[in-house]
Amino acid sequence: MEMETIRTFDNYFSANITLTKLHAAGVECYLKDEYTVTIDPILTNAIGGIKLIVKMEDAELVKKLLAEYDEAYLKSATCPRCGNNSFAYVSKPGVANVVTAIFTWIFSSYAVAPDYVYQCGDCGFESERLPETYTEPTYHPN
Ligand SMILES: [Zn+2]
Repeated sequence: MEMETIRTFDNYFSANITLTKLHAAGVECYLKDEYTVTIDPILTNAIGGIKLIVKMEDAELVKKLLAEYDEAYLKSATCPRCGNNSFAYVSKPGVANVVTAIFTWIFSSYAVAPDYVYQCGDCGFESERLPETYTEPTYHPN
């Protein structure tokens, strides 16, 4: 069976949230290198992160689903600087992926420069991680 890496993650949580959503949508998929990355984060760049693997025939569907998840996710984030919901996931210009990975690996630095950042479309605020949205959990006592 032909399998395809549809996306890579740099952390266990994002990878598993996405995996759970796809499973709920009935998509067959699994994570590769999940444990390596979790145990030794320094290897994340060297091995290319946690890989989300899907069947080739599901690739188009999964891409569509991931785009929907991303959009919903971005819309849910509020910019801590200007308060708007205009985040986009943009690539940083001038970052050589392979060189960065090797450099990081050689010097054993945990300060890994991300290739992509979340950027506010209104004020230009940049963040490696999407700011959390805090919604009060609804608690219904019996
Ligand atoms: Zn902003």
